[in-house]
Amino acid sequence: MNILILGGGGREHALAWAVMQNPKCDKLIVAPGNAGIAGIAECASLDIMDGGAVANFCDENAVDFVIVGPEAPLAAGVADRLREAGLLVFGPSAAAAQLEASKSFTKEICDAAGAPTAGYGHFTDAASARAYVEAQGAPIVIKADGLAAGKGVIVAETVDQALAAIDDMFGGEFGSAGAEVVVEEFMEGEEASFFVLCDGQTALPLGTAQDHKRVGEGDTGPNTGGMGAYSPAPVMTDEVTRKALDEIVRPSLAEMARRGTPFQGILFVGLMIKDGQPRLVEYNVRFGDPECQVLMMRLGAQALDLLQAAAEARLESAQVNWADDHALTVVLAANGYPGDYDKGSVIKGLEALPEDSFNMVFHAGTAHKDGQYVATGGRVLAVTARGASLSEAAVRAYAMVDRIDWPEGFCRSDIGWRAL
Ligand code: ATP
Repeated sequence: MNILILGGGGREHALAWAVMQNPKCDKLIVAPGNAGIAGIAECASLDIMDGGAVANFCDENAVDFVIVGPEAPLAAGVADRLREAGLLVFGPSAAAAQLEASKSFTKEICDAAGAPTAGYGHFTDAASARAYVEAQGAPIVIKADGLAAGKGVIVAETVDQALAAIDDMFGGEFGSAGAEVVVEEFMEGEEASFFVLCDGQTALPLGTAQDHKRVGEGDTGPNTGGMGAYSPAPVMTDEVTRKALDEIVRPSLAEMARRGTPFQGILFVGLMIKDGQPRLVEYNVRFGDPECQVLMMRLGAQALDLLQAAAEARLESAQVNWADDHALTVVLAANGYPGDYDKGSVIKGLEALPEDSFNMVFHAGTAHKDGQYVATGGRVLAVTARGASLSEAAVRAYAMVDRIDWPEGFCRSDIGWRAL
């Protein structure tokens, strides 16, 4: 089978690594890929937002199966275009990708499905949003409706902060993503990510994870794309998992199917759990980054069989073979991230690190220059390890971090602290 993965981050390196281990994979191309991915697969430069261009590329390269990594091409309808061209695709239609691309759409689905989530109001003008906030009080959460790369959510501690956030959003800070605003009740509890593989009909749980969004130790400081993650998430007990599936995920998927827009792909279910009761924070329509790194580390080669079964609507007879294991990933980012940072610094020591089913460094933002690895992004590496316990995985991951020579980068030293 010839496979094309769309994307070029740590998530796609992890997907590529798992897919390559499956003997079914004859040839793997990743577009655009990165320097780490280039070590295990062919990288192609291709505009992944252009469904027609991707379809032509698949035709020319005899691609049998396309796995879409990021949300932007999904929301833009690239999976639809590829399916029209007769290709097998893992990833939802643009209509089903609305579960991530529009927060008010997700709220509507929750209402129709009776899924527990935060109370909310949906607004298209600042005056009514402000009036709602004044009536509700703080803390309260202000969200730009559309895709804003994880930056369009303000958890406001005070009414003044909330009003300022509303003015910023309607003032155009997030462009068209902020033309509509959702104001949500603040939910207390512990967050976890639950991944569910979907084929339009059947939902198959694909594991749980927790990530660390804040840049600083002890989960402090500004938000980032994610500084580390671990799987499984202890807060996702069997009972919480069952409730999340029965009360949130399955009714939402049934509502999507009822509307004629069934969801196929990976549903990333962001949950807030309090006193054993999960409530939905958000849906994403792709794997999380860095959660994908820990999930792929645990799944290995079977990931390809599972993704293919979802694309071919065969999940009813599929199953996940879990080892009794844990995985943890530590993100190395460029100094200054998530603010301004320099690009182009040299990263040494990567060649000497182990690469096996217990230890992998997934690249998120690297390039090869003059025979060396250089940093090209904010989040640059995801140093990932697996073990019989979470602490064993953490020790392995940090042992690798210690061997990486990159003074221009940093990481958090406490990934997994809540569970350890
Ligand atoms: P990302 O995709 O990066 O997680 P996003 O922009 O899609 O972010 P959300 O996941 O909806 O936004 O919110 C980001 C974070 O804000 C959540 O992970 C959670 O910590 C917090 N948050 C969002 N909604 C609420 C809420 N109603 N109550 C409490 N915290 C919330």
